[in-house]
Amino acid sequence: MQLSIDDWKRLLSHIARRIEEQKDDFSALDRAVGDGDHGVTMSLGWQAIARRLDSYEGEDCGALCKELAMSFLNAVGSSVGPLYATAFLRGAAVLQGKARLAGEDLVQFWLAAVNGIRERGKAQVGDKTMIDAWQPAMEALQEAREAGLGIVESFEAAVAAGERGRDATAALVSQKGRSSRLGDRSVGHIDPGAASAVAILAAFTEALRGCA
Ligand SMILES: [Mg+2]
Repeated sequence: MQLSIDDWKRLLSHIARRIEEQKDDFSALDRAVGDGDHGVTMSLGWQAIARRLDSYEGEDCGALCKELAMSFLNAVGSSVGPLYATAFLRGAAVLQGKARLAGEDLVQFWLAAVNGIRERGKAQVGDKTMIDAWQPAMEALQEAREAGLGIVESFEAAVAAGERGRDATAALVSQKGRSSRLGDRSVGHIDPGAASAVAILAAFTEALRGCA
């Protein structure tokens, strides 16, 4: 698999499109455990990314991702802003200087991005956050690559693991952020951040199938 920067832009634009379609679902999830703004937050961030993708005229996928980090951060006021901005910055370092991307670059981009989220947010699996989706997804991605699966198949395995992690958050008591104030009352509800995390990775994988 060889991707041009235009392909890379298309992958990220597709995420923005899917987030926009699902923003009401994310806000509904957030109304159960938080302030109900998660859909609006993600929409603002990803629409800012979509605009920057359209306007960027350079040839460096890494430099582009640095720009996207700033776009997201500037558009989003909540705690999600620095998390995904850090993800894009860490991913940018992997793609620095590259006008074309191999499949393995995509794998390394996401691993670095999620490492950034983990370090910045300091959440563990079981805290009922986006990490409950991202962490198992990235473990599955690495395992699939080590087992010799192709790029698309590896991302599909990651999405499936992320979905299981997302669904498992329903049984958890929130340990982080506003929803942690609910204590046991957070049980029974899927974490909105885990839901949008899976939506991001699923949209990316869906668009990737069209590149393979
Ligand atoms: Mg919220």
